[in-house]
Amino acid sequence: MSNDIKTQVVVLGAGPGGYSAAFRAADLGLDVILVESRETLGGVCLNVGCIPSKALLHVAKVIDDAAAMASHGVTFGAPKIDLDKIRGWKEDVISQLTGGLGGMAKARKVKTVFGYGKFTSDKTIEVEGADGKTTITFDNAIIAAGSSVVDLPFIPTEDPRVIDSTGALELQDIPKEMLVLGGGIIGLEMGTVYRALGSNVSVVEFADQLVPAADKDIVKVYTNYNKKKFNIMLSTKVVAVEAKDDGLYVTFEGKNAPEGQVRYDKILVAVGRKPNGHLVAADKAGVNVDERGFINVTNELRTNVNHIFAIGDVVGQPMLAHKAVHEAHCAAEVISGKKHTFEPRCIPSIAYTDPEMAWVGVTEREAKEQGLNIEVANFPWAASGRAIASARTEGKTKMIFEKETGRVLGGAIVGINAGEMLGEVCLAVEMGADAEDIGLTIHAHPTLNESIGMAAEIFEGTITDMP
Ligand code: FAD
Repeated sequence: MSNDIKTQVVVLGAGPGGYSAAFRAADLGLDVILVESRETLGGVCLNVGCIPSKALLHVAKVIDDAAAMASHGVTFGAPKIDLDKIRGWKEDVISQLTGGLGGMAKARKVKTVFGYGKFTSDKTIEVEGADGKTTITFDNAIIAAGSSVVDLPFIPTEDPRVIDSTGALELQDIPKEMLVLGGGIIGLEMGTVYRALGSNVSVVEFADQLVPAADKDIVKVYTNYNKKKFNIMLSTKVVAVEAKDDGLYVTFEGKNAPEGQVRYDKILVAVGRKPNGHLVAADKAGVNVDERGFINVTNELRTNVNHIFAIGDVVGQPMLAHKAVHEAHCAAEVISGKKHTFEPRCIPSIAYTDPEMAWVGVTEREAKEQGLNIEVANFPWAASGRAIASARTEGKTKMIFEKETGRVLGGAIVGINAGEMLGEVCLAVEMGADAEDIGLTIHAHPTLNESIGMAAEIFEGTITDMP
C-alpha cells in the first residue's frame, strides 16, 4: 500500500533533537510529520542511551551507598540481585517516557510515521514501514538521524559475548570478568553498573587519562577514588581478541599492557559513536555529508540546501541530548520565520559515574591552548561540611576565571552530585557572570554548591586559608 502526504515540516528521526523540533514547530502553528524507524519515540537517548543508563546507575548507587554505610554503623546484608526485576524496572522507566512523548505528539497533532525514511528529492521523503510505503512531500525538512556505535575491525562483534552500549543496557547477565574497551563517559558509566552488580571490571584506554575531554586533575580525583574498584589500564590498547569456547582472550599493547592473553567473559566496546548522515540518502536532496557522516550546518541549522535543516548528533560534537534539544528549538523557530541562531557560550558535559565528573565552558587545558589569561580557583571538598557529613570528601570544585575581569570562563566539578551542581556554573558562563557575582550570591548551608561560591571567594582573595 502506498500513501502520499504533504506537510510544511517533516522531521527525520525522533530522538531528543527530532521530537523537540517537531513539538516546537507544532507549537508555533506549523503542520508537522515526525518519521521514526524505531517502534517508539525518544531515539537513542530514551530507548538505549541517557535514560536506561541512568536507571541502572541509580541501582548501582543504592548498592554502593548501602555497602558504604557499614563504616557509619549501619550494615545491610549482601544485595540479592534479581536481573529480571531490574530489567523490568528499567523498561518501565523507558516506556513511561517514550509513551509520554507519544501523548505529547498527539496533543500537538504531530503526525508520526513509523518506518525508515530516505530522501528521494529535495522535496520528498519516502518512508518504508510495516504498513507499506509513504511518500511525504515537504516544504521544509529537519534531519535528526542521530548516530550509531563505532565497531573496531579486529573485534569479533558477531560473538554475543562482545557487546556495545545497547547490549550492555540489556543486562543479559553479570559476567565475572568484564573488559570495557574505551575509558570515555559511556564505557565508565556502564562499567560502574556492572561493577556494582558484581563483575570484576577492567577498563582499557588508549589515552593517558580516562575521559580525555576533561581536565587531568578532575579525572585524577575519579581515578584515585576508583583505583581499587576497577583495573584501569591507561596508555594501552587492545590489538587482538580471540574468541574461544571458555572466553574471549585479549592481547594488549602499551605502557600498562599485561603480558600475554587475558581471558574475559564479556567485552563492552565503547569507543565512540559515528553520525548517521550517510544513511538518509541525503545526496538525493543535494545535501552535503562529509566523509565521517556529519552534515555541516549554519548557525541557523540550515544545510547547504536552504529549506533542509539538520540537528543533533548528525551535525557534530558534542553528541549530547541537551545540545540536540537546543538546536531543535532553533531550527523550528527559524522555519516558522523567527529570528534565532544557535550560538551557545557553553555546552555542559557530565559523566554520571561515581564520583560524577562535570565540566562546562573552557577547560584549563583549552584555556592554555587558546592563550587565555586565566586564574584557576580550586575548592577541595575536604573543607566542605556537607561533603564531610556525607563521607564523600574526595571531590573538588574548580572555577576558571579571566584574570583581568574575574569573568567566569568555565568550571569543573568532580564529586557526588557534580552533574546537578554544574547548572550554576553553566548559568554563570552563559550570562557572563564574574567572581564577585558568585561570591556575593548567598549559597545555602550546608550544601555542596557552597563550594562554587567559595571558589569565587578564593579568586577574589577573600578566603585565603584553604587546606
Ligand atoms: P538520536 O537520539 O540518535 O535519535 C535519532 C533517531 O532517528 C533514532 O531513533 C533513529 O532510529 C532515527 N532515525 C535515524 N535515521 C532514520 C531514518 N532514516 N528514518 C527514520 N528514523 C531514523 N547524552 C546526554 O546528553 N546525556 C547522557 O547522559 C547520555 N547518555 C548516553 C548513554 C548512552 C549509553 C548513549 C549511547 C548515549 C548517551 N547520550 C547521552 C547521547 C545521546 O543519547 C545523544 O546525544 C542523543 O540521543 C542525540 O539525539 P539525536 O536526536 O541527535 O539523535
